Amino acid sequence: MSRFLKEKYNILEAYTPGEQPRDGEYIKLNTNESPFSPAPEVAQILKKSDIERLRLYCDPCSTELKASLASLYNLESENIFLSNGSDDILNFAMMAFSDKGAIFPDITYGFYPVFAELHGVEYEEIPLKADFTVDENDYISKDKLIFIANPNAPTGMELPLESIEKIIASNPDSVVVIDEAYVDFGGTSALPLISKYENLLVVRTYSKSRCMAGARLGYAFASKAIIEDLEKIKFSTNPYNINSLTAKLGVATVNSNDYYEAKCKEIISVREYTSEKLREMGFTVLSSKANFIFAKSDIIGGEELYLKLKERKILIRHFAKDRIKDFNRITIGTKEQMDIFLENIGEILKER
Ligand SMILES: *Cc1c(COP(=O)(O)O)cnc(C)c1O
Repeated sequence: MSRFLKEKYNILEAYTPGEQPRDGEYIKLNTNESPFSPAPEVAQILKKSDIERLRLYCDPCSTELKASLASLYNLESENIFLSNGSDDILNFAMMAFSDKGAIFPDITYGFYPVFAELHGVEYEEIPLKADFTVDENDYISKDKLIFIANPNAPTGMELPLESIEKIIASNPDSVVVIDEAYVDFGGTSALPLISKYENLLVVRTYSKSRCMAGARLGYAFASKAIIEDLEKIKFSTNPYNINSLTAKLGVATVNSNDYYEAKCKEIISVREYTSEKLREMGFTVLSSKANFIFAKSDIIGGEELYLKLKERKILIRHFAKDRIKDFNRITIGTKEQMDIFLENIGEILKER
């Protein structure tokens, strides 16, 4: 750290992403990426891309990508915001709508408090119930910027749409951000509520269900007025935030929607299979609507299991946070990967 850094950044604790080992010999079940390749049409578009065009700036409005998402989701382009990964959208939302402070659960996506700290926003972390569900009553008429990941991370648990709607309806003068990074794995989207509530912002990503974490593409749905606000922040930060290659791949992804729906179904079925097998081995597994499960063993601690699996070249995620330190978050890979994972768990438990 230099002596030139502003005081407020001096004390900032940055977000710690999951490990991304460069040697590639791990079974990676730690950052909720898809185990599947992008659709064949996406690969085709990349191969056919005219590299010469990279000379030029990209379309700062990503007109074509917005139009294709608008037609897939029956919206207008003016209801859609695009960004370099959905983290950027969450960041912009924290910048834009936080005058009255922010609230979110104590156990949720670790980036919300980081963005709050980054922008000096007062925030409160509201404890999940003992069963790790969100209590809707904690968010009624709070009149603060609200962030709810639904399904939540790292629990994978879903808050029913009726509760989400009550929260949105009871906070008409504040923005409610519903982070739907995992909604395609069996969750219920708040998207239909966009036309009814001007304070709702639904955030999505290509990183999980669209198998494209490395391309960095996030999107959001909201009333036209909220989208205009986000565009204002974007054009004051980095107008060219979606590179031209990623935008093209984004369109090809929309055109291959059936492929991705099939892959999500596969993940859901492997998730149920893995949950069942872990329960048979004595694990508590929370009921997940995401592409990961949150599980704890009554025989072995969360950190120890994480380390033992790492020795065996399998990466899962452990959070050293009091309430959840006995748990691990395990991304759902292919059936083959999960069988290797389960076999290793069996061996580790036998060793004890
Ligand atoms: C992965 C994730 C994101 C961020 O995804 P990007 O790769 O930045 O699009 C946002 N919210 C939650 C809850 C996530 O798990």
